[in-house]
Amino acid sequence: MSSRELVVLGTASQVPTRRRNHNGYLLRWDREGILFDPGEGTQRQMLLAGVSATDLTRVCVTHFHGDHCLGLPGIVQRLSLDRVPHPVPVHFPAGGAGYFERLRHASSFHDVADVRAEPVGTDGQRFDIGAGVLEARRLRHPVETYGYRLLAPDGRRMLRDRLDAYGISGPAVGALQRDGHLDLDGRRVSLEAVSEHRRGQRFAFVMDTGLCDNVFALAEEADLLVIESTFLSVDAALAAEVGHLTAAQAGRVAAESGVRRLVLTHFSQRYPDPERFAAEAREEFGGDLVVADDLMRVPVPPTV
Ligand SMILES: [Zn+2]
Repeated sequence: MSSRELVVLGTASQVPTRRRNHNGYLLRWDREGILFDPGEGTQRQMLLAGVSATDLTRVCVTHFHGDHCLGLPGIVQRLSLDRVPHPVPVHFPAGGAGYFERLRHASSFHDVADVRAEPVGTDGQRFDIGAGVLEARRLRHPVETYGYRLLAPDGRRMLRDRLDAYGISGPAVGALQRDGHLDLDGRRVSLEAVSEHRRGQRFAFVMDTGLCDNVFALAEEADLLVIESTFLSVDAALAAEVGHLTAAQAGRVAAESGVRRLVLTHFSQRYPDPERFAAEAREEFGGDLVVADDLMRVPVPPTV
């Protein structure tokens, strides 16, 4: 479980600042390395964060505004330069396929990596990615935009007292988990009898949207929610007009959706003090709150 974490590569909306690179987020999830919204400079931020091109197994682009995708040409070409041996699917809004093609072939390079376009064409589209199900939901922004969430498969939590009651311990526990049952002195003990349902971990990525039902659908019971909070409440009218969230709205989404750890990011450069985002979100959300900074690592909380 400890191998599931968010590596923050960049946190600025629209233009970078001295402290904040354009967007970029890597989700390490067991053997997957999913790169979300590579903005300009993502390649160098990866170097600073200790992420190699080979770590990338998938890319998800929410939409084709520059601060979310202009790092894609560098990433695509780096995959070839480093001879990354595995395929790297790239998800993006299908309506932006023209932009994807231009970014994919932005300049001359020796194109050998297996970069696969897997566009998102419908709201709620799901991709089975081995580590779980990746689901895309349409968001509310001036251009076609999708948020994503990753749902790990549900599992079973072994109950110590039940195991003890049957006298099951050691390697027999593993055999029971593997086979779904265990024959014990002529009696069959089922896995269900000594365990309970455990929901799989959930990660959600909500970027560039006004408040809408799908924001809540993506955030629902997320263990880790990464969500844009471009504006503060003083600019709530402007946020709604241009299809963005305020920190307070992000906090309310987290509270109403049962989120466990909330990561705020995508900050407008007009506000010098990031603590104000935290203060506004905290008024709505009492759970674990992180104001993202570049190169920060945020573990996905284990399911309880
Ligand atoms: Zn945008």
